[in-house]
Amino acid sequence: MANISERIAEVQYRIEQACLRAGRLREEVQVIAVTKYVDAEITKQVLDAGCFHIGESRVQQAVPKWNQLGDKGIWHFIGHLQRNKAKEIVGRFEYLHALESLQLAAELDKRCANLDSKIKCFIQVNVSGEKTKFGISPVELNDFARSMANFSHIELAGLMTMAPNTPNREEVRPVFRELRRLQKELQRQHIAVPHLSMGMSQDFEIAIEEGATFVRLGSILVGTSS
Ligand SMILES: *Cc1c(COP(=O)(O)O)cnc(C)c1O
Repeated sequence: MANISERIAEVQYRIEQACLRAGRLREEVQVIAVTKYVDAEITKQVLDAGCFHIGESRVQQAVPKWNQLGDKGIWHFIGHLQRNKAKEIVGRFEYLHALESLQLAAELDKRCANLDSKIKCFIQVNVSGEKTKFGISPVELNDFARSMANFSHIELAGLMTMAPNTPNREEVRPVFRELRRLQKELQRQHIAVPHLSMGMSQDFEIAIEEGATFVRLGSILVGTSS
């Protein structure tokens, strides 16, 4: 297993190449190191190696880690969040990547108001339509995005999707392309959705070619099997 700095360097190189292919600037793409597989010790190594965006997906593991390392990075909650856990995330995590219900939005908004803080949220869109995936359907997106204006403590960061888990990497491209199209559609209506959170270890280069501004990378950076 290569050490973390070597892995980061390799990923940086692949991101640069994908940006070149797509005619994009390297600065447009940010890496979120997904540390849900590893303990606080390894998470600290990731931070020390210069990856400041940290992604976690389970409240029980994320909160103790944040309590140790919170001030060292920018924290993204990338998993499905239950409403009764929203209070744990607010005030700790700057970003939430999987907003898909107005009830959760209302709860986050209320909790943020109590702390006089804000949270940046991505709307998760189930572009592929798989029943096993979370996220709102593309046809609901317009109304959903508009209703974000009702929550003064939520800042709409952008859209997020997960591609199908398939060995055929090109099957994922249309999913990423569709999320970008949905972003443009909202932008035409003057709804600000600056970011696209898409692409994981298996498919981040395709996501970058299709416009990702945040890629969420776990196993390629901290997994044991690559
Ligand atoms: C685990 C996870 C990732 C990272 O996946 P890898 O394939 O290990 O890179 C990205 N996004 C979400 C939402 C995840 O739960």
